[in-house]
Amino acid sequence: MSGDLLVVGSVAIDSVETPFGREDEAVGGSALYFTAAASLFAPVRLVAVVGEDFPEERVAFLAERDVDLSGLVRRPGRTFRWKGRYGFDLNEAHTLETHLNVFEDFAPNLDPAHRACPYVFLANIDPDLQQRVLDQVESPRLVALDTMNFWIEGKRRSLLEAIERVDLVVLNEAEARMLADEANLVRAAQRILAWGPRGVVVKRGEYGAIYFADGHVFAAPAYPLEQVFDPTGAGDTFAGGMMGYLANTGNLDPDNLRRAIVFGAAMASFNVEDFSFRRLERLTYPEVAERFRRFKALTHFEADV
Ligand code: AMP
Repeated sequence: MSGDLLVVGSVAIDSVETPFGREDEAVGGSALYFTAAASLFAPVRLVAVVGEDFPEERVAFLAERDVDLSGLVRRPGRTFRWKGRYGFDLNEAHTLETHLNVFEDFAPNLDPAHRACPYVFLANIDPDLQQRVLDQVESPRLVALDTMNFWIEGKRRSLLEAIERVDLVVLNEAEARMLADEANLVRAAQRILAWGPRGVVVKRGEYGAIYFADGHVFAAPAYPLEQVFDPTGAGDTFAGGMMGYLANTGNLDPDNLRRAIVFGAAMASFNVEDFSFRRLERLTYPEVAERFRRFKALTHFEADV
């Protein structure tokens, strides 16, 4: 059963420095990157808050893609701000500043269309807020959650409560290790699975992604690119491609989940080609499908034993 996809997470104004340049006042945030990717696959409903300084025209392209922005509310104050830096190892973001601003006391009340969404993504944001959304959704088919070190360190108890309530956890390699307090990735994933979720997807930047479930492991590479410009949002874009494909097909079988992970990797590979989500704005579905097919060629081999 295909259906609408609800996302809650940050909508931000970012300042990002990479070895190739810098961009101040870029529109970003986990929920926005997710939505920019997922909206190529399925109808998305976004729940988040922005302040008076948010340039609304930067997200106008989402309305043209059938995204419901009625849950994106504006409050007095400043938009969530994040400042980060990447060194030559583009797999790891170094947070320089985080200002929650209007997210500090945001407590959304979902309307009936949001509550009825069968697919839910709790993008990286305060786990209290993720749980508040979980409390209100009616009977989703699939709920996935992402997080980061900021919340693992600052709100661990609430985060663990949230994780117990979801089907799928999607997180970066370093964060999987930190969350599970376990250096070995396989054991870290097993520990997270023991808390309740049915699957864990570990994102590994340029090394791809690995999916762990009970008795099931799947690894997808990252697409080999000659130049990575700005990795900001790659993880959220990955999740957007994966969840968007699942919501579009309505098929949660293991084989389809593998395809969804490859669609996630394909979307992430586009996002890093330009600053902010500029590449996602001009991306078309045929381009995504072409890259998906290239993944198949990239990973295909014949066993001779
Ligand atoms: P990613 O590169 O996919 O891990 O996500 C980057 C996005 O995460 C940026 O656009 C930031 O605005 C957002 N972000 C950074 N820190 C936080 C945080 N503590 N909570 C929610 N979103 C954040």
